[in-house]
Amino acid sequence: MPGRTHSRVKNRGKASRSKRIRDKRERSLRMYRIVNFEYFTSEFSKVVLHDIHCTMGKMIYKKENKIGIVSSFFYHCQTCDKTLKKFSHPPETTKNVNKMIVWGANSIGIGYVQTEELLSTAVRSAIINNSKTIKDVEQLREDLRNSPYHVFGDHSKCPLEYCKRKNEDEINYVTLLKQIKMFSEVWSALDYLVCKANRLVTNATTNYAERYMSLVSKFSGGKRINFCKRGSYLRRCIGAGLSFNNGSSWHKHVVKTKKVHLL
Ligand SMILES: [Zn+2]
Ligand SMILES: [Zn+2]
Repeated sequence: MPGRTHSRVKNRGKASRSKRIRDKRERSLRMYRIVNFEYFTSEFSKVVLHDIHCTMGKMIYKKENKIGIVSSFFYHCQTCDKTLKKFSHPPETTKNVNKMIVWGANSIGIGYVQTEELLSTAVRSAIINNSKTIKDVEQLREDLRNSPYHVFGDHSKCPLEYCKRKNEDEINYVTLLKQIKMFSEVWSALDYLVCKANRLVTNATTNYAERYMSLVSKFSGGKRINFCKRGSYLRRCIGAGLSFNNGSSWHKHVVKTKKVHLL
């Protein structure tokens, strides 16, 4: 079929390939990062300074390399053919930052997946507060929209109930971020959450089975050792059930108050 062949050839063209690369690049920026804020703003101001001094040129974001939670961002100017590499943390602290995350995760007994979940909870306090009180979707939307202002030191719109930093006279970075157009990147990342506020307002998850099974695999150590004999697996499942119902410190209450009977 000639029409179909034509469309296939068109899809493989140079223009569509460059569009795909551009889309992929833009998607990769729409994520949360942990940064050393003082270092990152001072480094990023060099990118802005280039745009002011370079004739007709502009630094364009090219790619990001990640080592653990430390990112390096590459910017390139086609006019003067200059590439700038900017880090999210001082390069000499890269190993230390990643080590701290691993040791912290190990000490509280969580693994890689749970650490990823923990690092993605930037606006959780707004969701929890709304679910406890009025469960108003519009209010949650407002709070979510306000969360970047709260994080970067502007507490003028923060409700007193959950903003403990309101009277601490913090430095307001919002104006600076708006000048260097970084705030719009934060907004675009937040858009997904604001759109889904109606699902987030109850702060509930429907997947209880999966959460329970993740606890069972934590108690039984996955599938590495055979725990099938003499009720060993059953005891671990009961332990996981108690932990699921009563929280991670369930055993302290039992040990302190009652005699422990073997199961
Ligand atoms: Zn330039
Ligand atoms: Zn605040």
